Amino acid sequence: MSDCHWEADVAGVDHTDIVIVGAGYAGMAAAVEFQKHHTPFTLLNKHDYHYFKTLLHEAAGGRADLSNFAIAIEDVVRDPMAKFLKTNVVMINPNEHLIETSAGILSYSKLMIALGGQTAFFRIPGLKEHSLVLNTLEDSKRIRRHIESKVMSYSQTEDSTLLRFVIGGGGLTGVELMGELADFLPRLLEENDINRDRLELILVHSHDDIVPGIDQKLRDIVKDKLLERKVKLLLNERVIEAKPCAVVLSGGETIHTQTFIWAGGVSANPVLESSGFSVDQRGRAIVNEHLQSVDHPDVYIVGDCAHYKDKTGVVVPQTGQVAEQMGQHAAKNVIAALHGKHQKPFVYRHHGLAVSLGPHYGVAEVGHLRTSGFAALALKDGSKAKYLMHLGGIHALIYKRKQWIHV
Ligand SMILES: Cc1cc2nc3c(=O)[nH]c(=O)nc-3n(C[C@H](O)[C@H](O)[C@H](O)COP(=O)(O)OP(=O)(O)OC[C@H]3O[C@@H](n4cnc5c(N)ncnc54)[C@H](O)[C@@H]3O)c2cc1C
Repeated sequence: MSDCHWEADVAGVDHTDIVIVGAGYAGMAAAVEFQKHHTPFTLLNKHDYHYFKTLLHEAAGGRADLSNFAIAIEDVVRDPMAKFLKTNVVMINPNEHLIETSAGILSYSKLMIALGGQTAFFRIPGLKEHSLVLNTLEDSKRIRRHIESKVMSYSQTEDSTLLRFVIGGGGLTGVELMGELADFLPRLLEENDINRDRLELILVHSHDDIVPGIDQKLRDIVKDKLLERKVKLLLNERVIEAKPCAVVLSGGETIHTQTFIWAGGVSANPVLESSGFSVDQRGRAIVNEHLQSVDHPDVYIVGDCAHYKDKTGVVVPQTGQVAEQMGQHAAKNVIAALHGKHQKPFVYRHHGLAVSLGPHYGVAEVGHLRTSGFAALALKDGSKAKYLMHLGGIHALIYKRKQWIHV
């Protein structure tokens, strides 16, 4: 706990009944729900925009301008009873009902923690220092610029490590990003008069099957498509060390590369653990069936921050869908609690999953339907439009096109 004075002193918002920290999928879903019920709240977030984390690989692949992957929070939080504050949350003192932020301290009656996750490095030597990650819009911009600079440098030096691109982690993030690289890198090489055959794309994964969250048939299609695009799959291999220009694998191989992107795991925001909440080994705070912290019932914890076991004892995964459903549900429970009504247990409903492999191919499962190719991509694009509508209605869809997001 920091030694600052725990007094509410943020100008204009020294006390507010309901505070949401974090404007990701979970926080925004909660904000939309509170607005629907005309319930006043204050939302705190480190950026003044909400970004579409599930599409960051598309941003890294340069498919469109970065502003296409975010929406200004003021375009969603428009109810006069709602407030937004751009600030960094440093610590929470749940015993005193206080939040320490970079703008000062404020107090709450009910708090919703939706601060998301971050890349997990599992204490692998050199990994944090010598890898790129994909968590934020800034990260996607950094990856894109890094890759472009390596291709430019190759034109001058012909050093093969410049055209060897390695991704660690064959889950959703690693696979979708590799799909994107396998699409745009050959074109980038061609534009720079470099022979496409010089390109090496390598995906390292610790199990024998990539994208574990989807149907086996679709997993096989994903694997075949990556192989068809000359991606080398190193399966059942773990990254055991990262060096300035090399990645060391458990099988003994060392890959020399100037681009290593780590997408091998997610842990929850460290603010939870440092604020004293009971957490699991991934730093997720343990919540009860109503999504309340088991330590502090006035604190609801949602999305990638929450460790929630369903009826069968399985911990729900850290996905955008889970986050949205949790945010909405927790907001309903907060409203119920404020009105002295019964809160309802959270039940996760899986609506399917779409995985893109670049802008021209994807696979998707929705209910019993399994599809691949353009149909799958259309489902993914359709869900983005549906999401924007849900966030801000037709206003968000129209004004989204006009505004500029500074990243
Ligand atoms: C490349 C990629 C592809 C993915 N694809 C899919 C997919 O296809 N389908 C799917 O379901 N899931 C996917 N996921 C996972 C999904 O994005 C996450 O599970 C989801 O974003 C979690 O939502 P959240 O609201 O808990 O957190 P986030 O969306 O991470 O939001 C957290 C918010 O908190 C803010 N914040 C963080 N720390 C602070 C702080 N200290 N102070 C103030 N604000 C702070 C952040 O800026 C952010 O706005 C993908 C993830 C990645 C990285």
